[in-house]
Amino acid sequence: MDTSLARSWIEIDFNRLESNVRNIKASLPKGIKYVCVVKADAYGHCMPQALVRFLRGGADAFAVANLYEASRVREVVSDKPVLVLSPILKEERPLVFEFGATPSVSSADEAEAFSNLAKERGMRLNVQIKLDTGMGRAGVRYEIADDVIPKILAFDGIKVSGIFSHLSSADSDPEYTEKQFSIFKRVVAKYGSPDMLIHLHNSAALQFVKVEPPFNAVRVGLIQYGINPHEDPKAVYRGIDIKPVLEFKSRVLAVSRRSDGSVIASVGAGYADGVPSGFNSDARVLVNGIRCPIEGKVGLDETVINISNAGEVNAGDEVVFIGEQKGAEISLVDYSKWTSRIPWETMVAIPRRVKRVLK
Ligand SMILES: *Cc1c(COP(=O)(O)O)cnc(C)c1O
Repeated sequence: MDTSLARSWIEIDFNRLESNVRNIKASLPKGIKYVCVVKADAYGHCMPQALVRFLRGGADAFAVANLYEASRVREVVSDKPVLVLSPILKEERPLVFEFGATPSVSSADEAEAFSNLAKERGMRLNVQIKLDTGMGRAGVRYEIADDVIPKILAFDGIKVSGIFSHLSSADSDPEYTEKQFSIFKRVVAKYGSPDMLIHLHNSAALQFVKVEPPFNAVRVGLIQYGINPHEDPKAVYRGIDIKPVLEFKSRVLAVSRRSDGSVIASVGAGYADGVPSGFNSDARVLVNGIRCPIEGKVGLDETVINISNAGEVNAGDEVVFIGEQKGAEISLVDYSKWTSRIPWETMVAIPRRVKRVLK
C-alpha cells in the first residue's frame, strides 16, 4: 500500500503475526488448545485480516470482550468457538444465539436464563463458567463455588464447555498468580471434565507456569503481537520466538534552525494521532536511524523533535515512534514506559486517523 501521502501510519506485519502464533502453538505440549484473544480489534492489529492469520497459525478458538466483537469474528470464522469473556447484559442474551457465541456465566441465575432461552429454541447452548479466583470482577467467587457450580451443571438447556478464570497480575506478582492457580485447580478437580476446555494461562503466566493437566488450553493475547509482558526483558519465552508486529511512523513536515544552532523538526503526528502528550524526558524517536529527543509539548497534529545530531533531514523524511529504522529500534515496551502506559494500552490507543498499512 502507498504511504507517500500519509502523515502518520501504523504498519502491521501479518507474516510476523502468523509466525508468532505458529511458534507459540508449537511450544505447547501436544493436544493443548490455543484460545486466541482478539478483543479490541485484535489489540489494534486490524480485524478481519488478523483473523485469517490466526487461523493459519493454528488458533483453535477465539476470545473477545463482548457480543459486537463476537459478531465480527463470525464474519470470518464459522466453525470455531467464540468465547465472550466479559459479562453479557440481560438484553443482549438473545444475540448470543444469533452470533453462535459462547457466553461466560458467573451465576446460577444467568446460567438458568441462558438455559431457558436455549430450550425455547430447541437447542443446547455451550457456555463456559467464569470463576473468580481473586481478580474481584465478574465470575463465580471461588468461596461459593460448591454452592453455585452444581446448579449451573444441572440446567439441561446448556452444556458447560469450559471453565476459566482471569489472572489479575501474572506480569508482576508470581506469588499471587500461583495462589490463583491453586484455587482454580481445586475447583476444577471437583467439577471439571475432559470434554471441557480448562484454561487459565494468559501471556504472562505461560512464561512461568507449566501447561499440564488439568489444563488443556491456554488463552493468549499480548505475546501473539510479539510483545513480552514481563518487566524483565531477559525473561524470554521458554525459547519461543516472537517478534513485534506493529510499527508506528510519521514524517518530518518542516525543519528549522534555532538561533543557538540547534536544529528542530516538526513531525506530522500529535495527540490526535495517539501520540501521548505525557512523554517523559527519556523519550526518543528515530530519524535517519538516530535517536532524537522530543522537545516541548506534543500538539494536536504535530510533535517537535530535536534533530541536531541526526545529520541531513528533509521534509517528508520518515520518523519512527515505534519500530525499526536503519538498524536502530524503538520498542513498543520502551515507548510505553516513556508515556506511562502498559503495552496493551499503547496498542489499542492508536486512533483511526492514523492510516493502517497492512504488510
Ligand atoms: C485480555 C484477556 C486475556 C489475554 O491476556 P494477555 O495478557 O494479553 O495474554 C486473557 N484472559 C482474559 C479473561 C482476558 O480478558
